[in-house]
Amino acid sequence: MAATISTGATELRDITKMERIGAHSHIRGLGLDDRLEPRANSQGMVGQAKARKAAGMILKMVQEGRIAGRAMLFAGPPSTGKTAIALGMAQTLGADVPFTMIAASEVFSLSMSKTEALTQALRRSIGVRIKEETEIIEGEVVEMQIDRSLTGATKTGKLTIKTTDMETVYDLGTKMIDALSKEKVTAGDVIAIDKTSGKVSKLGRSFARSRDYDAMGADTRFVQCPEGEVQKRKEVVHTVSLHEIDVINSRTQGFLALFAGDTGEIKPELRDQINTKVAEWREEGKAEIIPGVLFIDEVHMLDIECFSFLNRALENELSPLVIMASNRGMARIRGTKFRSPHGLPVDLLDRVLIVSTSPYSDEEIAQIIKIRCEEEDVNLTEGALMVLTKIAGDNTLRYALNLISTAQVIARKRKSAQVEVDDVRKVYGYFMDEKRSVQWLREQQGSLLFEEVGGEPRGDAMDTT
Ligand code: ATP
Repeated sequence: MAATISTGATELRDITKMERIGAHSHIRGLGLDDRLEPRANSQGMVGQAKARKAAGMILKMVQEGRIAGRAMLFAGPPSTGKTAIALGMAQTLGADVPFTMIAASEVFSLSMSKTEALTQALRRSIGVRIKEETEIIEGEVVEMQIDRSLTGATKTGKLTIKTTDMETVYDLGTKMIDALSKEKVTAGDVIAIDKTSGKVSKLGRSFARSRDYDAMGADTRFVQCPEGEVQKRKEVVHTVSLHEIDVINSRTQGFLALFAGDTGEIKPELRDQINTKVAEWREEGKAEIIPGVLFIDEVHMLDIECFSFLNRALENELSPLVIMASNRGMARIRGTKFRSPHGLPVDLLDRVLIVSTSPYSDEEIAQIIKIRCEEEDVNLTEGALMVLTKIAGDNTLRYALNLISTAQVIARKRKSAQVEVDDVRKVYGYFMDEKRSVQWLREQQGSLLFEEVGGEPRGDAMDTT
């Protein structure tokens, strides 16, 4: 089995990463200068200077490959930019450094165990940069015979390609025939076939003769060959995650499961084989390990089993940087009777670098609101900005940011291109913030189903005592 471990290169090359949108779409980086000093307002980031600088330093170590197996914790009250800074870090990482983001509650699923879910998240965050040489055959098409009688699922045919001093006959399968017809290849054309992926490119007729090989792209490299021979090698570098290699090689799933996201549990023996194979590739100089980042939001939602699993996993040679975020102060460690800072067991806390985030000043809040307005294409009057800033100060920044688009709906209804104080007042009346919602529940005591029975203290605000 180990000998046939596939990287899934061909299949994965085409998967495009989806761009993150939503509440953090204005974040384009950490907004640091070359000396890692935070700029006041840059790349969508405002304030929180200490935390951004710390994040920048850690990022530098990740980029230098020096921080695998370490963990950091962003701790601070709600809406103080913990997730925003983590996403800023993700944007700054190179395109092929994996960044995985999960909410701790996602680990609790019926379809797989907690430790399997964590293992998958960890392995998603380790990249394997693989170098592969693919052989390209290039020449003039002499003859193409395609058996069109098989129009169903399979098509067959023959292709003769002539180069200066040889003639090769290929038996064609459906994939190749489709590729040839897509390129509209006919006899007399000069084509190049990538033997690994089966990709066909049609070249200008003068191409083969002029040997203008640069046209094939910067990563094309030639094997010195006798005059007239037209085979060449092209080095292809691509990065896949360990998890992707796991899924592609798990017999029951295959690579289609990657699209569906329904990967199920993966056998530990398969993972061992893959680790061995990757280690071999590494020794042969074919692969490089790129430790990425796993971000676990609301980490206090994990339980003691998850924490001890993580603690052990961090010691593994193939471990990413784990960044956690929590808005809890002293909280109960789930699955135990004990309370500890941020709901994390002390042995795990002991190994994490803790970065704290603190509430924003009014001026910073106003700047963040302005950035969000630009992002959402909303025009606020100065007065409305002041009211929103006050609301953010009294409640949370996130609540105020949520009111922007709803206030715009009200403004549009009265056919105004600008959101004014009254629009903000109205939506403030329509949508309760957390404090008013709690107050309302108290007033409704007894009239709602399922009242909570005392117990745990509220843990949503950072307890700094
Ligand atoms: P929670 O503890 O509730 O999960 P959090 O600390 O993760 O909160 P975020 O979700 O990052 O807070 O912040 C709330 C909103 O404010 C988001 O839309 C975020 O993009 C924005 N925001 C937070 N901090 C900044 C900042 N420094 N610059 C720009 N935007 C920010």
